[in-house]
Amino acid sequence: MSEGAAKKEEKPRKFQAIRGTRDLLPPETALWNRVEQTAHEVFVTFGFGEIRPPIFELTELFARAVGGDTDIVSKEMYTFAPGYDPNSEEESVPGRTLTLRPEATASVCRAYIEHNMQQLPQPVKLYYMGPMFRRERPQKGRYRQFYQIGAEILGGPDAPAIDAELIEMLMTFFERCGLQGTELSINSIGHAADNCRRGYVAKLREALTKVKDHLGRDSLRRIETNPLRVLDSKLEHEQAIVEKLPRIADHLCEDCKTHYAAVKRELELRGVIYRENWRLVRGLDYYMRTTFEITAQGLGSQNAVCGGGRYDGLVELLGGPPTKGIGFAIGEDRLMLSLQESAKGAAPQGRDVYIAWMGERAYATATRAAKDLRKAGFSVELPPTELKFGKALERASKLASRFALILGDNEVADGQWTLKTLADGSQQKLAEQALLEYLRTVSAGS
Ligand code: ATP
Ligand code: MG
Repeated sequence: MSEGAAKKEEKPRKFQAIRGTRDLLPPETALWNRVEQTAHEVFVTFGFGEIRPPIFELTELFARAVGGDTDIVSKEMYTFAPGYDPNSEEESVPGRTLTLRPEATASVCRAYIEHNMQQLPQPVKLYYMGPMFRRERPQKGRYRQFYQIGAEILGGPDAPAIDAELIEMLMTFFERCGLQGTELSINSIGHAADNCRRGYVAKLREALTKVKDHLGRDSLRRIETNPLRVLDSKLEHEQAIVEKLPRIADHLCEDCKTHYAAVKRELELRGVIYRENWRLVRGLDYYMRTTFEITAQGLGSQNAVCGGGRYDGLVELLGGPPTKGIGFAIGEDRLMLSLQESAKGAAPQGRDVYIAWMGERAYATATRAAKDLRKAGFSVELPPTELKFGKALERASKLASRFALILGDNEVADGQWTLKTLADGSQQKLAEQALLEYLRTVSAGS
């Protein structure tokens, strides 16, 4: 058998995107770009600057910042061996591994410390956007590569106005995106002290122990490891039990109580509508006081589009100076799902002008016209091979073009170009300059 024949028989393998990952395609990517552009615009008006941290870091950074007994660190991280460069510090330590980031707060805090940002005017306000990686069970609104848009405020005074302004920015962003049915829930989880959260957790543990025969396996384990997490149980039969448990609001210390009341007042001052949810918690010690979450419509059970909270101890935990911190992370995939759900049947992305040309002279003029129109900001389709006018107009409609510019040798010879409006089939003859002016006026008006 000749080599050629062997190749023919062996069909090349077709590849598919890995489970839990997906291609974002046009026209959907236009919506992604619009949302990201809105984030850049809104966040800048609140004095935030963009940070672009790397996609992978030392595994230890996430283990420490996210917490060893969270689902993320215990089973969801994509971890791999570093290279084999004996001269590199991180590559030569035995057992050291790298991890694709499951979230970005750890990286932002690492960068704050690494670049001595505590020497800048405080607080430092940073935002980021990009892919995150978690090995979770894929389902609607839950992927293994997903995207977050997040912001962090690091340093500065102990001021409830900081919490409120961050939340105001978030809600402004969602409103500008046109997100429907948003609900903001807030809570305060106090701070890790005996007269505050630690005292509450002890009471919670006691109460849970009394009802332990009625709890599921996860909650039973959490009585010891992380009783706060029992509060966000989604199990149907545990709901009535959880509702009867002691509530943290009744156990906050005076400072945390005052802080929480001030955050609520500051939100009201800014016209931000919220709902209190005493079961909204974070399971890690350095999380404190303000926690919040936003849900939106059209998402089924994965309806949280954003989570956030205050984490005053995190920078110190990562080897930096004592630094206040608060931030949020928006799930961009879920935001997109909700936006698409409420804008069903939105017009596909079309072209402003389709140039139907025939003949060699017309082609030269058409390429020049395409260049001028694109320079003026119009989206232009210039067919790369000659098509009969009928065929070209058919293509123009298929691409949802608004106008067809018809250029044949006659048009080029008279300097009068034909412009067809596809919606009503009307045609007009215009000189080059007049045509450009006309397009400018009609597109400015629409
Ligand atoms: P959930 O309870 O839905 O798993 P989470 O507590 O793990 O959320 P965070 O780590 O706080 O979420 O991340 C903030 C936001 O990122 C979430 O509110 C959600 O919108 C989004 N998000 C988290 N994990 C995923 C994922 N696997 N796929 C898509 N979006 C995600
Ligand atoms: Mg999760």
